[in-house]
Amino acid sequence: MRRLLPFLFLFCGCDDSPQNAESTAPQQPAARELVSTPEFNGENAYIHCAAICALGPRYSGSPAYEQQLQYLEKHLHQYGWQTERNSFSAPNGVKMCNLRAFRSTTPCPLLLSCHIDTKVNIAPGFESADDGASGAAVLLELARTLCDDRVELIFLDGEEAFARNMSETDGLYGSKHDVARRGDQLPRWQINLDMVGGRNKCIAIPVLDTSDYMYNHYAAAVRALGYSEASWTVWPGGYMDDHLPYLEAGVESLNLIAAFSGSNWWHTPRDNMKRICPHSLHESGSMTRQLISQLLSEGASDAP
Ligand SMILES: [Zn+2]
Repeated sequence: MRRLLPFLFLFCGCDDSPQNAESTAPQQPAARELVSTPEFNGENAYIHCAAICALGPRYSGSPAYEQQLQYLEKHLHQYGWQTERNSFSAPNGVKMCNLRAFRSTTPCPLLLSCHIDTKVNIAPGFESADDGASGAAVLLELARTLCDDRVELIFLDGEEAFARNMSETDGLYGSKHDVARRGDQLPRWQINLDMVGGRNKCIAIPVLDTSDYMYNHYAAAVRALGYSEASWTVWPGGYMDDHLPYLEAGVESLNLIAAFSGSNWWHTPRDNMKRICPHSLHESGSMTRQLISQLLSEGASDAP
């Protein structure tokens, strides 16, 4: 994604320095097998994140991207979800594929999204652990614990630009394709997850891209979970990210994204599993569950 308004630094306790990370890091998970707890489990999400990163860079159209699709499909099917691949090509000819997951073929009012491609030309073996894999890991663990046929998941290709920086015409290929493909069958709500697994992260939703309606839901969820308002805050600008095509099409969108401006890891080899922690994934999963609950209960009360 690209930051649009680089005008303020957020003092929100998101120190990502190694020293700070070491001093406050939760224990790494001892278990290396998925567990069947009734609630969202951050260690399960951590295992998924590590398994995805172990595939290496997941460039669009690459064998590793295909392996990632198969990994996601295997688990989604185990958890009772149907899946559908939507293949397309970027204007430069690169093959891309969005993966949808749903429990009902009836259009769902709530769409959860993340991107699963990794940026090219970073470094051999670039893990892109937070920028991509963390969102997929949270959605996959949510899929295990979520049996609501009003929710659809989509794992998007082509979020990253081919050029160094994203532009109006380079990047967001998967989300633009999906919005166009749906026509007038758009969801009512979308929650996009991006960079949601870093240690000591600070989720900072972009105020310019967030309606009062979705901000109020976000603020209510932060209060309901008792989360720190310093670590779950707002970014005083906008982002180019996978929420935008949906937002511009009229969907109520919320982009759950960590502050990354000025970080020393974003789009570098330091975005690896050493930055990821189960507790952070757990918080992001719990936040998403809370938002799902709020939105769907509101939708139910709106029903005639
Ligand atoms: Zn990125």
